[in-house]
Amino acid sequence: MGGAPDTDALVSIQGVVKDFGGVRAVDTVDLEIRRGEFFSLLGGSGCGKTTLLRMLGGFETPTSGRILIDGQDMVDVPAYRRPVNMMFQSYALFPHMSVERNVAFGLEQDRVGRAERDQRVTEALDMVQLGDFGRRKPHQLSGGQRQRVALARALVKRPKLLLLDEPLAALDRKLREKTQFELANIQEKVGITFIMVTHDQEEAMTLSDRLAVMNAGKIIQVGTPGDIYEFPANRLVGEFIGTINVFEGRADPTSGLVRCDGLDTPIRLEDQADIGAATDLAIGIRPEKMRIRKLAGARGDGAPDVNCLSGHIEDIAYLGDLSIFHVRLADGRKVQVSRTNITRRRDEPLTWEDAVAVDWDAAAPVVLRQ
Ligand code: ATP
Repeated sequence: MGGAPDTDALVSIQGVVKDFGGVRAVDTVDLEIRRGEFFSLLGGSGCGKTTLLRMLGGFETPTSGRILIDGQDMVDVPAYRRPVNMMFQSYALFPHMSVERNVAFGLEQDRVGRAERDQRVTEALDMVQLGDFGRRKPHQLSGGQRQRVALARALVKRPKLLLLDEPLAALDRKLREKTQFELANIQEKVGITFIMVTHDQEEAMTLSDRLAVMNAGKIIQVGTPGDIYEFPANRLVGEFIGTINVFEGRADPTSGLVRCDGLDTPIRLEDQADIGAATDLAIGIRPEKMRIRKLAGARGDGAPDVNCLSGHIEDIAYLGDLSIFHVRLADGRKVQVSRTNITRRRDEPLTWEDAVAVDWDAAAPVVLRQ
């Protein structure tokens, strides 16, 4: 953020603040969202993501700051005049109207002529693969189909920007996964910029080109899912997105190693410049970046002198595709290590109470700022 404005930006949020009485819901947010992008606002409950989305839609007014959409200041533009549509969590379909009429409703309000209206409704329903469902009423549809009607209704008006408030929250897990892919495909096909609010990090990672992680009204990090997962800006992001083992330690300026409480050996980073000027620091290592093996005897010669720990398996979560091992260190700390179950062998050689060694490559640890 900062620097020259992004000329390809469809949405430019500049120093936006929103206060509700004494509560600062959104705190000085600067953000540019590019044309055609699938962008997500992600964060825990109460972090301000819905308020930010509602300000884009024109349902709330910023206390200060500016919002530009396609270069136009939105300050005096009411919701219904913005080139924006919002898909609400509840879908808000009219129960007594057919699917077709639900989708056509916005066009009728805009007095779009009959022939064009019919053509656009057919196109929108085909887009969400509900071409044969136009005559049904919402109660004759499944949850996933209702979600797609709501999407068709939002797309039929051809907005420049579509805002989605937890669009998949009402669906069960399996359907949600399927719908995620459909939503991503549709977005790619129509090329409309999507901004989605979610507290579900998996959903944000799967769907988004880029995402912003919010906390206490502020944006903490903006980046691609890969940037945010592999290079979290700070400890909060690292812990919010996925699982991460955090070790607190001290950097040794002569060796460049980081000595951490509870670990048998110091941590060596691939790039020592990551340590910077810090002496006390937190290092994060994701569970899938650690290797685990059974210790035959005492930890003896041949054990690595960096990037390794030992402990006992306290718990194993078998998830089918993955197993997650909870390893208890001698000082009581717990570390999570995950492993892909690449064979169907039932004679799992690792079991509860086993003494294990865990190690990782120098590229695995990431320095977490406070
Ligand atoms: P959730 O995931 O729980 O919906 P959120 O990140 O979307 O959370 P917001 O709904 O944006 O959070 O709320 C941010 C803060 O602003 C919260 O502290 C909330 O209580 C407060 N807030 C939101 N809307 C209002 C309102 N209309 N009046 C007063 N306070 C509000």
